[in-house]
Amino acid sequence: MTSYTKEVISDLIAGQLPWPQTRRIMSTYKDEDRFFKVIEVLQERVPWDDPILLPISDHLFICQSGSERVTKCECGHSFGDYRRNWKLQALINVRCTEASLREIYPNNDIPDPDWMEIREFICPDCSTIHEVEAAAPGYPIVHDFEPDLEGFYREWLKKPLPEGPS
Ligand SMILES: [Zn+2]
Repeated sequence: MTSYTKEVISDLIAGQLPWPQTRRIMSTYKDEDRFFKVIEVLQERVPWDDPILLPISDHLFICQSGSERVTKCECGHSFGDYRRNWKLQALINVRCTEASLREIYPNNDIPDPDWMEIREFICPDCSTIHEVEAAAPGYPIVHDFEPDLEGFYREWLKKPLPEGPS
């Protein structure tokens, strides 16, 4: 059986791996228990009761919220339906000037602001920076992935996706 390093597992838990890789690791493990143990730990960490269906980054989760499945911040802020790009509902800080780039690269060469900007996606309630992306100015906001939630539960976890109240 393939064994993965602790870093890979922790990236997996933190949702920092691309979706296809996450699926591959999940399927290699053949250990749906692991997934639910992780979910259990995460669920204890958050101050709300909506069941977590899938962690997508350190402090961001897809969860069952009443009859909806939403992307939710650890603080409880909802970014709406998980199939929509949550980044469009976030506060966005764009670093597109030398001075603002210098704040995050104090000792290094900074990227040329004519060619690259840094976008920080921030929770409007708790100010957590959920994601940072580098892109050419004018390039559309990246939709990282839309997880196949049903397929993931059915094929990899062999469990039905928990249903919300109807
Ligand atoms: Zn928040």
